[in-house]
Amino acid sequence: MFVDVHCHLEMFSDLNKLISESVSQDTRKLISSSVDLNSMKKNIKITKFPEIECCLGLHPSNILLMNQKEIDLSIEFLKENLSFAKAIGEIGIDFKHAENDAQKEKQIKVYKKQLFIAEENSLPVVVHSRFAEKKSLEILSEFNGKVLLHWFDGNKQTFSIGLEKNYFFSVGPAVIYNKDYLKKALEIPLENLMLETDSPVEFNGIKAKPFWVKKVAEKFSEEKNIPLKQIEETTTKNAKEFFSL
Ligand SMILES: [Zn+2]
Repeated sequence: MFVDVHCHLEMFSDLNKLISESVSQDTRKLISSSVDLNSMKKNIKITKFPEIECCLGLHPSNILLMNQKEIDLSIEFLKENLSFAKAIGEIGIDFKHAENDAQKEKQIKVYKKQLFIAEENSLPVVVHSRFAEKKSLEILSEFNGKVLLHWFDGNKQTFSIGLEKNYFFSVGPAVIYNKDYLKKALEIPLENLMLETDSPVEFNGIKAKPFWVKKVAEKFSEEKNIPLKQIEETTTKNAKEFFSL
């Protein structure tokens, strides 16, 4: 079976259909990541489906849309609902959206706070780093726990820091649509690899769905000349251990 370790299922309307479609493609576990208070609430609700698990956290881009009171309330909610969370995520920093130092600081502060909560509660973290890979890893170096770098698109140096630290990398449909990203992704050893879709993010105008992880695995199999079964088994084993599935 395959696991989609990073998607946003709270954004889909017909989950029954989506789940049966996924299961028919042998994608039997879907880990839905949160971005704000509302999405945390929705994600907790949909864990009633046995195929769905969730991560709770505040996304760096969403943090920019919140005032301090909203951030505090969201963090409180997060702390009170940790029993639903398989990991804290998605958290991180995104300097594509932070326009000035104050906004960057705001993201960093909430990122650190969520890392602290994860460490205190022995939960792994799912990290989003965009245009800020180096800074994100610098902050992570203080964190004691398991790390999954989602859709990580750093340079050679930041990739090797992540590997040195034995972080996991989740790779999605971008390997099919973006040659540069594919090249980097192929450097990730199977032992550090997981599969994701970030659904419903669009690729070439089409909304991704969790069962696309199979297509991602097929691409890896083709390019690396490794049997599909081996990719399936190793990435699923990594996901099961990381998220305690
Ligand atoms: Zn995401």
